[in-house]
Amino acid sequence: MHLIDIGANLTHESFRHDFDEVLARAKAHGITQMVVTGASKTGSEQALELARAHPGVLFATAGVHPHHAGDYDADTDALLRALQREPEIKAVGETGLDYHRNYSPREAQLAAFEKQLAIGVDMNKPLFLHQRDAHADFFALLKSVRDKVPAAVVHCFTDTREALFDYLDLDCHIGITGWICDERRGTHLREFVREIPANRLLLETDAPYLLPRTVRPQPSHRRNEPMYLKHICEEVARDRGESTEATAANSAAATRAFFGLSEPG
Ligand SMILES: [Zn+2]
Repeated sequence: MHLIDIGANLTHESFRHDFDEVLARAKAHGITQMVVTGASKTGSEQALELARAHPGVLFATAGVHPHHAGDYDADTDALLRALQREPEIKAVGETGLDYHRNYSPREAQLAAFEKQLAIGVDMNKPLFLHQRDAHADFFALLKSVRDKVPAAVVHCFTDTREALFDYLDLDCHIGITGWICDERRGTHLREFVREIPANRLLLETDAPYLLPRTVRPQPSHRRNEPMYLKHICEEVARDRGESTEATAANSAAATRAFFGLSEPG
């Protein structure tokens, strides 16, 4: 079984002390490739460094998360455009809107999102997108550029069935995380995850965040890591009424097509 984690925040400081072990555990669980999320200026540069150090295994995105949108200036824009020319950088993002926490003012979020959508259009790159409690504004902006970019994934999808079908109608991919394993806030996803077409469903951990609450035995720490993608795949497969192998194979093929990834060596 080959699984690909489309969203791993491996530049996070919590991975610094045991990075090689994290990669080894991922490999032992069948996670053969990972896309490292770039969510800030320095984070995107670090994601590129990691991808360069692990060719064919790690890939990266480059973007500024809505939480950091207040920092988005002309230098940021120039840096993100330069990063998109690097072969290891496979998508524009993480970018989008987050009205749940509003760590950056909405005006700043909207401006930074529009700038990054323009990068995707200008450089003909897929989009790696974040949306929380902001569907209407997010959908309107995404719709305005959707036919000018090759692909777009709404990562860590947590929204309603209606929002899901809005994105599927725009020919978007959907990223499912261990949120689906959260009995407090993710059970609605279990009801409609089977309605995502197999060639549109991508899997991710969002590590170190969102440790799946159904992992047994529960680790003593709260850090999520790519090896738990196998568990997420098993849960999603059960909800879809298909074998784990089928979910894994279909999502890996969809991921390779989405990011243009080579087969694992
Ligand atoms: Zn996100």
